[in-house]
Amino acid sequence: MRKAICVILSAVLISSCAVLFLTAGKSGEKDFIKYAEFNVTYPVLKKAMEADIESYGTDKHISWINLLAYLAAKYGGDFKQYSEKDFEELTRKINNGDSLEKLCSDMKYYDYFKEVYTAVLGGMLGEYSEKDESGKMQKKYGLKAYSPIASGFCYSEFDDFGVSRSYGYKRRHLGHDMICTTGTPIICVEDGIVECTGWNQYGGWRIGIRSNDRKRYYYYAHLRQNRPYHIDIAVGKKVKAGQVIGYAGRTGYSTKENVNNIETPHLHWGIELIFDESQKECDNEIWINLYAISVLLSEHKAKTIRDAETKEFYSVL
Ligand SMILES: [Zn+2]
Repeated sequence: MRKAICVILSAVLISSCAVLFLTAGKSGEKDFIKYAEFNVTYPVLKKAMEADIESYGTDKHISWINLLAYLAAKYGGDFKQYSEKDFEELTRKINNGDSLEKLCSDMKYYDYFKEVYTAVLGGMLGEYSEKDESGKMQKKYGLKAYSPIASGFCYSEFDDFGVSRSYGYKRRHLGHDMICTTGTPIICVEDGIVECTGWNQYGGWRIGIRSNDRKRYYYYAHLRQNRPYHIDIAVGKKVKAGQVIGYAGRTGYSTKENVNNIETPHLHWGIELIFDESQKECDNEIWINLYAISVLLSEHKAKTIRDAETKEFYSVL
């Protein structure tokens, strides 16, 4: 009986997902993804990343994005259904010579999840160079994106995506808060181009950065009063992962500029997925839950030093 209910529930879940996914591609409309969520939990994200890193450079390289897309297609995007056994079985099959493409060939939503997860994670793992302990540049493969909080600065966080907010109008929290002290150097998570700076009545002093593949719009908000940005930041400038872009503060919740109206200093950061430029500012913007990603990125923090004269922080990578 219980099993029967589970089967029915799964069918309902998968068919309701299907309705959401298939809002893309109606006749006469451009064909692009119009709805997406990111529900991969931290342990699964970490495990998939390790499998990718371990197999890198071998003829059986497993892309973490493809692996996660396979699991998502199996669970209809609901990672509460995740079982370690599914992960082990999949990696065992790949190691025995089965191609992931073949294993996914009859999975209806594999391509959809692959496209969504490529948009989310496409700039986070890869080849990059970093100085080792002795100061020598080393080529590495791994997590190349950085935590938005500089190394050595304390913060606290929890999964606060979707909780309700009431300033202005009743709305859902579409980002991730990292509670820290005012002046904490804020680090650029991923390479990109500064798309906007300035005041926003919700976010206060904020920075918007677009990833180089144009699929992710990073939003960093509530930056410090009076001196929110790093001196090197300007609209149109290229930025590198790991570089200092600004300082945490508590500006925002005011139509007047440079006002500290947020009670607790924190960084609010968000990622908006953009499959088509028309989505950048619209009624159905796709912002994702960053909690698992934020925890993962805490393993890769940028060290900084402070220039005594200018009081500006610079990263040492
Ligand atoms: Zn927030």
